[in-house]
Amino acid sequence: ESASTTCQAQTTCPYCGVGCGVTATLENGALTAVEGDRQHPANYGRLCVKGSALHETLGQQGRLMRPRVDGTEVDWDTALEAVASRLTSIRQAQGNEAVAAYLSGQLLTEDYYVANKLFKGFLGTPHLDTNSRLCMASAVVGYKRAFGADAVPCSYEDLEEAELVVLVGSNLAWNHPVLYQRLKVAKTRNPLMRVVVIDPRVTDSCEIADLYLGLKPGSDARLFNGLLSWMAAKGKLDRVYLERHTQGFDEALAAAREDAFDLESVAADCDLDAEALETFYYWFASQLHVVTLYSQGVNQSSSGTDKCNAIINCHLAGGKLGLPGAGPFSITGQPNAMGGREVGGLANQLAAHMDYHTPGAIDLVTRFWTTDRLVPTLPDAPGHKAVELFEAIERGEVQALWVMATNPAVSLPDAARVRAALAKCPLVIVSECVTDTDLLAYADIVLPASSWSEKDGTVTNSERRISRQRGLLPPPGEARHDWWIMCEVAKRLGYGEAFAYTHPSEIFDEHARLSGFENVADTGRRLFDISGLAGLDRAAYDALAPIQWPVTAQAPHGTARLFEDGQFATDNGLARLVPITPRGPEQRLSAARPLRLNTGRIRDQWHTMTRTARAPRLMNHRAEPFIEVHPDDALAYGVADQRLAVLTSEAGEYRARVRVANAQRRGEVFVPMHWTDRFTKQARSGALISGYTDPLSGQPESKHGAVALAPL
Ligand code: SF4
Repeated sequence: ESASTTCQAQTTCPYCGVGCGVTATLENGALTAVEGDRQHPANYGRLCVKGSALHETLGQQGRLMRPRVDGTEVDWDTALEAVASRLTSIRQAQGNEAVAAYLSGQLLTEDYYVANKLFKGFLGTPHLDTNSRLCMASAVVGYKRAFGADAVPCSYEDLEEAELVVLVGSNLAWNHPVLYQRLKVAKTRNPLMRVVVIDPRVTDSCEIADLYLGLKPGSDARLFNGLLSWMAAKGKLDRVYLERHTQGFDEALAAAREDAFDLESVAADCDLDAEALETFYYWFASQLHVVTLYSQGVNQSSSGTDKCNAIINCHLAGGKLGLPGAGPFSITGQPNAMGGREVGGLANQLAAHMDYHTPGAIDLVTRFWTTDRLVPTLPDAPGHKAVELFEAIERGEVQALWVMATNPAVSLPDAARVRAALAKCPLVIVSECVTDTDLLAYADIVLPASSWSEKDGTVTNSERRISRQRGLLPPPGEARHDWWIMCEVAKRLGYGEAFAYTHPSEIFDEHARLSGFENVADTGRRLFDISGLAGLDRAAYDALAPIQWPVTAQAPHGTARLFEDGQFATDNGLARLVPITPRGPEQRLSAARPLRLNTGRIRDQWHTMTRTARAPRLMNHRAEPFIEVHPDDALAYGVADQRLAVLTSEAGEYRARVRVANAQRRGEVFVPMHWTDRFTKQARSGALISGYTDPLSGQPESKHGAVALAPL
């Protein structure tokens, strides 16, 4: 009789951008329980309902076990040869730029690094983008415009140390629950702390709000222009900070005044009570320790970047930045959206946080990736962002697409058009863990990938903290790690020398070395430098404790807060205030489509539910898709609570049961984003949203659809 074995191991939750540490219990080779990792600085032992059900989502049922080529199961060698030979044929016939990759904020940093190096470095195509484009691309551009670099200045502790926390377009209670719990506890401990929630919907996050501003959707930039204008009028600017550390204030203020001169008109435009608005302005202006936390409600807009900068302008104007408990804090949706940004996993980035136009970047990366026999052929200009990429496929310009760990047939806007593009794409390669995602119907080659609890690597959460996700179980069947699959393809393409990794620690080491490669004089690159983590051997990599970048010889224990010295990554070191002229949504309301559509997450589900739907208790919260409607609109459009209704947009239809709720503003409806064809072909939110994007960030305006509502 064999003795039973039990042990525990630390890893990281694979869901939201909070990036909680998880302690997993393994009994006789099975992962039987999870609890919050008490040592992890993101959560100190807490987990939300999704995280605490992780062990219930495991098992081999529904997992992809073997590679498939043209619908036939094959061995790995055959599949890898097929990938390599078909990519080569298309590149030879159509050029390098006929090949593209679409990645995911669920991938580990090491997978992302290898993908970026393979596609941009050796396949020579700039067309590599990620579903993180749908999540935080506007926040990235906002930071770059203001700070000269995509650098999130704050830490989670700043939320706890703030005197005022402003949540804008963020239902923290549902979408980043552990961070919300931390904020709630901090507010209990500090009775002077105030919380303001700015959101068109009354959400669970309002439970701790001292003030709720239910603004008209899309009016955020005007609200913050109004704040800047009000601060100037009331003498609430930090003139010393503005003088020493910023540029562009006069232009930004002029634009704000032109747009939002008096409080009453701003309140009217935002559909808010003027007294409540002034209370917020007064609170913001009177406190130095203010954190404004913003998320998809700000980013998922055709003017999302401007909204981010309107917020950042107010922080710069008040000197509320680079201090404990202060700063504009974008929270990412996905577990490794930040890690993707680190390696260059966006189409506009080159590598290691460098853009194509970063002086000397192409030459530097070329030299870094050159081996004894191989010289990479980097593209010289950015590639297609997510929505553009699928338009290029539709036009026949991109003929080969490799999708990893995401389901664009559901999650991208204008889903019918995306599906049509995929159907006509000559080569679709899909790396996937499960058998029943909508995307597999379009796949010529299917590659079974390992999943959470099997994969080994790192992720970076919303506060720049790198944590280990650990491989605790063997992948089922013949599933393999994404980095391994790409390296095997690279070898078959003749690039083996540049992809000779045998373990993720080697990839991480290269990533860390590239981040610090020849960047001594470059302020922007120094912000992202993790060269202090280079040279870890396998044991040290495995034992790596969570740490916030930058990590350098000067900051070996990481960096909690950026810009404390008032030095920014712009050419002259000054932060930039950006003049903002607000724009409304591109999806216009009309007599035919009079309702504003908002889309988002629900508390207990994650993305397209490939994992969370496996835990029955997570389905209890909301068992089916729904349409949330204000009671007056229910009456006006003849729909009733719990009865079926249909939403119609210019892009498509969505059918589900109605939930009548006072939390909803009049004239607006809300639908969840999670349901896919696997559950119902009738209720995909992506079918309703058109592909309008922010011109600067390429992020779709997923929160501003225009729809008609009718009973079924
Ligand atoms: Fe996972 Fe996010 Fe929940 Fe933490 S808050 S347990 S990272 S889903």
